[in-house]
Amino acid sequence: MAGFMDSVNKGLATLNVKTSNLMETSKIKTAITNKENEIASLKKLIGETVYLNRANFTMDMIKEQLDGIEEKVSAIEDLKKQMAALEENEKNILGGGAGGATAKVYCSQCGAPNEAGSKFCEKCGSKLAE
Ligand SMILES: [Zn+2]
Repeated sequence: MAGFMDSVNKGLATLNVKTSNLMETSKIKTAITNKENEIASLKKLIGETVYLNRANFTMDMIKEQLDGIEEKVSAIEDLKKQMAALEENEKNILGGGAGGATAKVYCSQCGAPNEAGSKFCEKCGSKLAE
């Protein structure tokens, strides 16, 4: 019975982590899409500015837009890092449950994580301790 309750609790914890990560991830995805749309409008604006001022165009005329794009590109990079961190976090929580079905066994030879119950290291082939 204890084993059954463990699986139920683990199942619920898994669901919570997945749900909250899913919400965070979709928020971040929306933010990225917004930034990409802003970049697209800035590029359009640059194109129009260049065209309208083609007789006496200077780079100063689009400096603001170029800076804006650069700022948004780096914001997108940050958002992507946040998403990667969330995925990593999810893996750690879901994979690190002590005694859980997905607990890892670390190879004493090369340190690679292996599924609990594995007989041999999937990286170097050494025999794993139980
Ligand atoms: Zn190994």
